[in-house]
Amino acid sequence: VVALGMPTRSVVTTCAYCGVGCSFKAELRGDELVRMVPYKDGGANEGHSCVKGRFAFGYASHPDRVMAPMLRESITDPWREVSWDEAIQFTARRLREIQAEHGPGSIGAITSSRTTNEEVYVVQKMVRAVFGNNNVDTCARVCHSPTGYGLKQTFGTSAGTQDFKSVAKADVILVIGANPTDGHPVFASRMKRRLRQGAKLIVIDPRRIDLVRSPHIEAEHHLQLAPGTNVAIVNAIAHVIVTEGLADREFMRERCEGVEEWETFIARPENSPEAVADITGVPAADVRAAARLYATAGNGAIYYGLGVTEHSQGSTTVMGMANLAMATGNIGRDGVGVNPLRGQNNVQGSCDMGSFPHELPGYRHVSDDGARDVYEQLWGVPLLDEPGLRIPNMFDSAIDGSFRALFVQGEDIAQSDPNTTHVHAALAALDLVVVQDLFENETAKFAHVLLPGTSFLEKDGTFTNAERRINRVRPVMAPKTGKQEWEIICEISQAMGYPMHYDSSAQIMDEIAMTTPTFAGVSFAHLDRVGSVQWPCNDAAPEGTPIMHENGFVRGKGRLVETVYVPTQERSTRKFPLILTTGRILSQYNVGAQTRRTANSAWHPEDLLELHPHDAEVRGINDGDMVALSSRVGQTTLRAVVSERMPVGVCYTTFHHPVTGANVITTDNSDWATNCPEYKVTAVQVALSSAQ
Ligand code: SF4
Repeated sequence: VVALGMPTRSVVTTCAYCGVGCSFKAELRGDELVRMVPYKDGGANEGHSCVKGRFAFGYASHPDRVMAPMLRESITDPWREVSWDEAIQFTARRLREIQAEHGPGSIGAITSSRTTNEEVYVVQKMVRAVFGNNNVDTCARVCHSPTGYGLKQTFGTSAGTQDFKSVAKADVILVIGANPTDGHPVFASRMKRRLRQGAKLIVIDPRRIDLVRSPHIEAEHHLQLAPGTNVAIVNAIAHVIVTEGLADREFMRERCEGVEEWETFIARPENSPEAVADITGVPAADVRAAARLYATAGNGAIYYGLGVTEHSQGSTTVMGMANLAMATGNIGRDGVGVNPLRGQNNVQGSCDMGSFPHELPGYRHVSDDGARDVYEQLWGVPLLDEPGLRIPNMFDSAIDGSFRALFVQGEDIAQSDPNTTHVHAALAALDLVVVQDLFENETAKFAHVLLPGTSFLEKDGTFTNAERRINRVRPVMAPKTGKQEWEIICEISQAMGYPMHYDSSAQIMDEIAMTTPTFAGVSFAHLDRVGSVQWPCNDAAPEGTPIMHENGFVRGKGRLVETVYVPTQERSTRKFPLILTTGRILSQYNVGAQTRRTANSAWHPEDLLELHPHDAEVRGINDGDMVALSSRVGQTTLRAVVSERMPVGVCYTTFHHPVTGANVITTDNSDWATNCPEYKVTAVQVALSSAQ
């Protein structure tokens, strides 16, 4: 501040990191961003912030930013800087040529959870209306797609049930597969405030995360289960609730369906804590005590993260947690619910905006004639009623030659998706890769067109956070590259022969509101008036909906699902005797494209491998040694941290640095319902590296 002088103006906008969606006042002197001040009226953060949102904004003006469109005929050629017009005409011509040669389904796009709702909406519109197929998927595929599936099956809509404030009314908080202290720091503070006031805590996690024991907080129960056994332990908790007479039978009878079948299923002996103790590694008595606490302590609230979803049974665990909430009546009021902690700033929004290959905006299936008709009338083209390709299908089809061109909006799939070798082979096989991004990322190494994106400081639109809160993202400065990202999509569509034009991003939101019932009451003017709203926001709920399913579930009755535990096929073996699981750290963010280009990088300059002292000792590994980490699909080298946070037989790393490339190790195993990768369970070996 001293160097830049005192600010002369400020703009209220939204953090572009995690799914908490904190509001900030961006304070400027002239065109120079001086500081980010947490906004006291922010609905999600009420004046709080973390080290990422508050300090890690320097990437937006980093010299690595791509400032002009670039082209090359082949990925072995050097980049050639070109005009916007040449880049757009080239992209449109090549897409049409590839479709003419290989068929309308040979091209597709991936949307980003980092961009605004309006930018995502126009990409899925381009795919459906201009490409003429449903080959659009979102990077939520690799994180929260099981949330989308599981909560829709059980409750009827693909979203968390509560607002963040609700945690202040919880009496017992169950955190499973999430590390809010690092991943969602501002919400973690809110949760910790409630815990310090006396709410009880149950943590289900293979790793002893900070929340288990932090100042003035100690979990009543830490169920330190083996990776990959979430369904077994969630079923065991439900088994205790049902067989010990702790269920809310009145709630189940009045509000749910499938009750008898589910109770019969869950009461089976194979679901008892004693029967699954050998599978999960958790003593039955601990599971019984945790189940009794959740069912009887008053308001029970469940919070979960990618440690639930990124498994071969991710969708099953989501439904298992919904079962727990319904069986105990912990749904539809303050202090309860089932709440996904979304990783990226706009995961919720990118899913809401119709970027799954089977769903139009608002989670309406592409086979829904009524929903399709709305868009066909408005967009003036027929739409396909069959789902398109998911991301993993795009990769497989690229390798078999039937899928030939991919538009990638702001996601670094070459680093973030599992089994890097396979992803690189797929990208290299494509005739055309178009990347729209701030930086020349790992995916851009396979690109023929690189279109510069805009940072959150230049965007004009909305992000939707983990509590369904639609926040305004206001431009602090004009786009440094001369164009908003939605304008680029419109221009490519027009060059492909389809008229797509908007005067502003507000007009795109107006179209979203006009066509999506849950957004019917949303407009920039309304958001400017009230600050933010949580969808559904429409005539029935003009001020939005902080808590869902209060008097009935979106699908009518809540559906109890028989969640059969099926072991993952990824097992430890003599060759790969340890299980690797992955996660994040406070100062860094995802593939690190932003935070690695800020001072935050000094706090965590490399990915580390945590392993238990026993596993280290038998391998002759000391704290700080470089180790070789290998799985059946790849190998990398990183530094070891010997830590009792890990149980014996399990190790842990982050995935923030391309040099380490943790996803070189992770496999193609994925969730049975959604293909979300099983990042959290990989059989590995660790050995002292010769590179010390
Ligand atoms: Fe940004 Fe999340 Fe930190 Fe809030 S908690 S400042 S949204 S990174």
